[in-house]
Formats: sequence, structure tokens, C-alpha cells
Amino acid sequence: MFMLPMNLLVKKTKIFSFQVLSLGLLLILINSSCDNLLIENIDLPNKAIALTFDDGPDPIYTDMILDVLKEKDVKATFFLIGSKMKRYPNVTERIFNEGHCLANHTYTHINLEKTLYKEIYNSISKTETVLQGVCGESLKIFRPPWGKITLEEKDKLKKDGFKVVLWDVNSKDFRSNITVNEIINNVMAGIGNNKIVLFHDSDYLGKASRKNTVLALPQIIDLLQEMGYRFVTIDEMDNVGK
Ligand SMILES: [Zn+2]
Repeated sequence: MFMLPMNLLVKKTKIFSFQVLSLGLLLILINSSCDNLLIENIDLPNKAIALTFDDGPDPIYTDMILDVLKEKDVKATFFLIGSKMKRYPNVTERIFNEGHCLANHTYTHINLEKTLYKEIYNSISKTETVLQGVCGESLKIFRPPWGKITLEEKDKLKKDGFKVVLWDVNSKDFRSNITVNEIINNVMAGIGNNKIVLFHDSDYLGKASRKNTVLALPQIIDLLQEMGYRFVTIDEMDNVGK
């Protein structure tokens, strides 16, 4: 009787298993009503990153960042200041029209730790109303300025239906003398699955340069894509802010 060599048998088994697996996946895909989601999950399990930008919209740098994101076909999340959305409605609308997630960063970048809850809630609600006017819906995704929030405030906001979102990886691009390479290194040093990365497309006074963020961003996106990461917005991440 003809015997197949052992290594060939193993190979054949692997090919057969793959065929069975492929057929299974094909059947799942055919039967699924949400094919895109399924394909995405099969191709790149867990390797998701959320890029986030605080303190905009900015009349100069937000547009530059949007240009980079558009060229790379990447969607991000912008934590916007309500009063600046009012001042720069065209930039705000561009963020929305290009498919990014718009989130809440208070109306005037207030320090929550030094503010009464009633005032905090008013500032956030006022911003949420502006967001709703642009997006047509209220996502209630909120990041406190400077990441400062007490546990009590966090609990109250959660009860009022807000998702409070901080970050995992800080690019530290807000530092005045930071170089492009330092921004890249700060991000790459902390990267991992389902991490939220903090950048700034402005500052709350609207005076800072974000030129180095704009220069670092395409390189960071390229590096992460080479590592197999895909980019998601905060509203696409399941367990954030719960
Ligand atoms: Zn901020």
C-alpha cells in the first residue's frame, strides 16, 4: 500500500482544515446580514486604535489634520469645545462631513475639579446641543479638559447618560518644544490593542502651533498600519466609558 510521507500528510490535513474553515466562513458570510462587520472582525481581530484630537476646532490645524486623515483614509474622534464650534462652523461641518466622530470637551474648556456640578452639566449640555445641531444626533461622548474629573462627577455624568472617555497613550504634543520624533516615539511606545491615543488639533486658547502634530501624524498612521492596526472612532469601541 502506498504511504504518504508524514510531512505531506500534515500538509494535507492543514489544507483540508483550511478548506473546511474557509467553507464555514463563507457560509457565515452568506448568511450574515452585517457582512462588513464580520469580515472586519475576521481579518484583524482586536487590532484597533482610536486616534483622538482635543481642543478644536482650529481654523488652521484642524484642516491640516483632516487633510492627512483624508489622504490616509482614516477616521478619528474630535473632542470639540462648544464655543469654538460656534466660532468655526465650517471647520466643524467638515469634520462631520468627512465621517469623523464629534465628541464633547465642554463649552469653554472648564476645569471640572474647580466647578460645581450644575455649571459642569450646563457647559456640557450646551456643547451637546451644538454637536446635535451639526451631527443630528447626540452621542454623549465626553472628555474632561486636562483629563481632570472627580469620581463623584464621573458617576453623575454617567447617570446623566454620558460616556466619559480619557486616553491610554499620550502623544504629549501639547508640550511647546516637543519634536516630531518625540511625538512619534511617545505614541509608538504605548501602543497596543484597543488603545486610545491623545493628540491636540488646537489648544483651548487657540494660540498654540500644532505643526509637529500634523507632521508626525502621517508617519504614525503608516507605522501602525504596517503593524496591522485598523483605526476606529470612539463610538465604534464597545467598552469605552462604561
Ligand atoms: Zn483640552
